[in-house]
Amino acid sequence: MINVVVAGSEGKMGAEVCRAIDAASDVQLVGRADPTLGVSLSNALDSAESPQVVVDFTVPEAALDNIRIASSRGVHSVVGTTGFDLDELETITGANVIVAPNFALGAILMMRFAEQAAGVIGSAEIIELHHDKKLDRPSGTARLTAERMQAASGGAEVPVHSVRLPGLVAHQEVIFGSLGETLTIRHDSIDRTCFMPGVLLAVRRIANLESSPLIGLDSLLEGI
Ligand code: NAP
Repeated sequence: MINVVVAGSEGKMGAEVCRAIDAASDVQLVGRADPTLGVSLSNALDSAESPQVVVDFTVPEAALDNIRIASSRGVHSVVGTTGFDLDELETITGANVIVAPNFALGAILMMRFAEQAAGVIGSAEIIELHHDKKLDRPSGTARLTAERMQAASGGAEVPVHSVRLPGLVAHQEVIFGSLGETLTIRHDSIDRTCFMPGVLLAVRRIANLESSPLIGLDSLLEGI
C-alpha cells in the first residue's frame, strides 16, 4: 500500500486525485492539504500516518515550497502544477520528484509523435486551448512540446498560440506545414479523469526512479 497526501485537495484536480486514490486498491489517502481546509502541507504531513508520496496540484507560487517540504522529510513528490521554474528542482535532494505538465497518456503520446514529426517536417506551430480559469500561458504542455520539437528539428523555433475560453477543458493542436501538405496532431482532454491513470502510474513508480527529477512521464510509459 502506498500512502499519499494530496496538496491542493480541494481544487478541481486535487479533488479528482482524491477520488482516484479512493478507487485504487494499492494506494491510500492519508492526508489532505489546502487553504480551504486551513491545513498546510507541513501540518498534513505531520498528522498523516507514514506518508510516502505527495501529489501536488496547487498553484505555481506554492509548488516549489511544497516539494522542498516533502523532500526534507524523505517524502516523494508527484507534481502536476504548471507555471513554475523547473530549473530550481535540481537543488532538491532527499526524495524523488516527478513533474509532468500533462498526465494524460494521450497527451504524452501527442508530444512523442510531434517530436518525431519535427525531425522530418521543420515548419510547425502549436495552438493550445484551455478553460478561462487557467492561470498560466502558454501551457506547460505546449512549452514542453515546443522544446522537444525544437531539439528534434535542430533548432527551428516553434511558435505557440494560447486560447482561453469557457467551455474548453485542455486541448492542443500541433500543425506541421510542408510543400502542398499539412499534418495535424491533436489531443483533447474531455474530462479531468483523463489525467488519473498517469497520476497513479507516477505514484506507483516514483520510489524506484533511476534519476530525479523526472520531467514528463514519457519514460514511464514503456512497460505499462
Ligand atoms: P484549482 O482548482 O485552483 O486548485 C488549486 C488548489 O490548490 C486550490 O484549492 C488552492 O486553494 C490550493 N492551494 C493553493 N496554495 C496551496 C498550498 N500552498 N498548499 C496546498 N494547496 C494550495 O486548480 P486546478 O485546476 O486543480 O489546477 C491546479 C494546477 O494543476 C494548475 O497549475 C494547473 O495548470 C495544473 N494542471 C495540471 C495538469 C497535468 O496533467 N499536469 C492537468 C490539469 C491542471 P485556494 O483556491 O484557496 O488558493
